Amino acid sequence: MTSHPVVLILNSGSSSIKFNLFDGKTELITGQISGLGAEPHIKFDTHHGQGDIDQLLSPQEGETHATALQALLHLIDAEVGHISIDAVGHRVVHGGADYAAPIVLDDAVLADLRKLIPLAPLHQPHNLDGVTAAQQAFPNAVQVACFDTAFHRHHPWVNDTFALPPSFYEKGIKRYGFHGISYEYISAYLGQNYPGGQSEKVVVAHLGNGASMCAIHNGTSVGSTMGFTALDGLPMGTRCGQIDPGVVLHLLTAEAMSPDEVTELLYKRSGLKGMSGISQDMRALFASDAPEAAKAIDYFVTRIRRELGGLAAVMNGIDTLVFTAGIGENSPEIRRRVCMDQEWLGVEIDQRLNDAGEEMISSPSSRMKILVIPTDEEEMIRRHTLNLL
Ligand code: ADP
Repeated sequence: MTSHPVVLILNSGSSSIKFNLFDGKTELITGQISGLGAEPHIKFDTHHGQGDIDQLLSPQEGETHATALQALLHLIDAEVGHISIDAVGHRVVHGGADYAAPIVLDDAVLADLRKLIPLAPLHQPHNLDGVTAAQQAFPNAVQVACFDTAFHRHHPWVNDTFALPPSFYEKGIKRYGFHGISYEYISAYLGQNYPGGQSEKVVVAHLGNGASMCAIHNGTSVGSTMGFTALDGLPMGTRCGQIDPGVVLHLLTAEAMSPDEVTELLYKRSGLKGMSGISQDMRALFASDAPEAAKAIDYFVTRIRRELGGLAAVMNGIDTLVFTAGIGENSPEIRRRVCMDQEWLGVEIDQRLNDAGEEMISSPSSRMKILVIPTDEEEMIRRHTLNLL
């Protein structure tokens, strides 16, 4: 038995569930169930030094989110011992206009969140399937939702709207912004580790498979590159990023593509993978000699540099630039290219610190701090879930 609250963090996608089990602040087990409905397996680490363990699940165990969470329950019993889970913290991509903070889930809130499925069709239904499955698997646990949109809900109106008649805004067609849990973690980290860090003008570049950038002033999001959906802004692993809406109209009319085909193109066949024809993984693009790989990287960097200038203008300057997520944390070359020749903006990178993987990579003469900070969305969800317990 344990004296701390035991919290399970779930991030449920269409065919996968990522999980982290915490006893207080101690992580007991972390892993991912993937291949739901196809070739299900579970990969986990119990932090006992043996590294990742990969096990196949039976087709019955891996049929749905609900059956997979029953399998996870058995795994926890076997690996950690019988432990009572006090709360489950869920990552939910869309909180719409109303949910500006984490919330304890009940039937009314769940019904509200289901209404948002058309705004995030690739994420929201699966996030909510995970909630329903967790309610069945852990009926005595408090279920909490943390929203990727919540951190942006206090955007100034000009950064929240599109130039459409107001009736569309009233219907919820506005710039929501995403990756908010990551941005909130980074902002809190700056507050804890850099005097005055949270009150500064900060730009965070969250460069992972999904990628976006956010301008944060006084700990509040004031502008972000993602808009109504998680498609806008930077190009991503398979998503197109910013695109002229006229292109979409052209695809639907002149190219006679169906809405489903356009959705598939923009979400799954574009971005680094679509441009290169090789891979969505930045490491594979760097390893390739193909000119298309180099072009995809060039485009990715160019869009980050454009957005950096734009977000600097939103705040009348930048005090701190933070790189985070898979590419931001691990690729000195992308960081170097983003920062190259940006002295006019106050960006001066120290290449030795950058290559050495230091947290602070700006040179002493740089007008802004340039930092590399690993994001930890699960930790942020854990804190919120505990607060609501
Ligand atoms: P997600 O959005 O799925 O959470 P991550 O933040 O885990 O994505 O980032 C995953 C991406 O990070 C990979 O697709 C890969 O392109 C990139 N990445 C990881 N390590 C490196 C590296 N050493 N160099 C360049 N890119 C890397």
